[in-house]
Amino acid sequence: MKRRRQIYEGKAKILYEGPEPGTVIQYFKDDTTAFDATKKATLDGKGVLNNRISEYLMSQLNAIGVPTHFVRRLNMREQLVKEVEIIPLEVVVRNIAAGSLAKRLGIDEGTPLPRSIIEYFYKNDKLHDPWVSEEHITAFGWAAPQDLDDMVNLSIRINDFLSGLFMGVGIKLVDFKLEFGRLWENDYMRIVLADEISPDSCRLWDAQSNEKMDKDRFRRDLGGVVEAYSEVAKRLGIMPESVQGEVKGPVLVR
Ligand code: UDP
Repeated sequence: MKRRRQIYEGKAKILYEGPEPGTVIQYFKDDTTAFDATKKATLDGKGVLNNRISEYLMSQLNAIGVPTHFVRRLNMREQLVKEVEIIPLEVVVRNIAAGSLAKRLGIDEGTPLPRSIIEYFYKNDKLHDPWVSEEHITAFGWAAPQDLDDMVNLSIRINDFLSGLFMGVGIKLVDFKLEFGRLWENDYMRIVLADEISPDSCRLWDAQSNEKMDKDRFRRDLGGVVEAYSEVAKRLGIMPESVQGEVKGPVLVR
């Protein structure tokens, strides 16, 4: 295989130079981290599942006219995406109280919110991704007021669409994190959805039992992480042919 230039290695993904200018390859690793990367593990098959789930969700969003960086899946672990300038914000959309919101404001986890809430976190590992307001974002120039407006409008559409999509397969979309990028087309710039949407970046609860089907299984040592992600893929109707039996090396052909 031709050697490719690595652009960036993150906690769960690697970015490689794409086959043509303006493209990037996203490689989904099995590595997972939590609590500022103080907790780490490798979960066999997680990368394959997230690649599939994110492909599916991004394609569905593209189909309803939400602009995303996603182009196509290339193989089990890689997808081709458009090169964008990532806006250094994590945009979190919440429907039900959980995680940091439940803790910060003393609301019982599982309490439905009076309306969907959008929060912003400044992407900065050294500062542990602090919570920031629109005032900080525009004052420090991380995003212009118009960019922020686009991100909010897209986040609301994404939340409405994904909440319905997941509810249709018996899953509550509790909250999720989005990242956006600036896509340059000649002199024209638009804000598009980037990164991934997967059980690593969403809280997904079984609609009947409220059982967790997301990364909280890892964060909270509940076990069965890959099994839960598989169940999400299965319910979405996109179960990959073989995750557990992913070919790891040469196999004897009989
Ligand atoms: N999230 C994420 N990456 C982060 C932080 C949060 O994908 O670095 C997701 C998380 O999985 C959850 C949502 O964003 O679906 C809200 O997370 P929260 O603020 O409650 O923080 P946490 O409890 O994960 O620390």
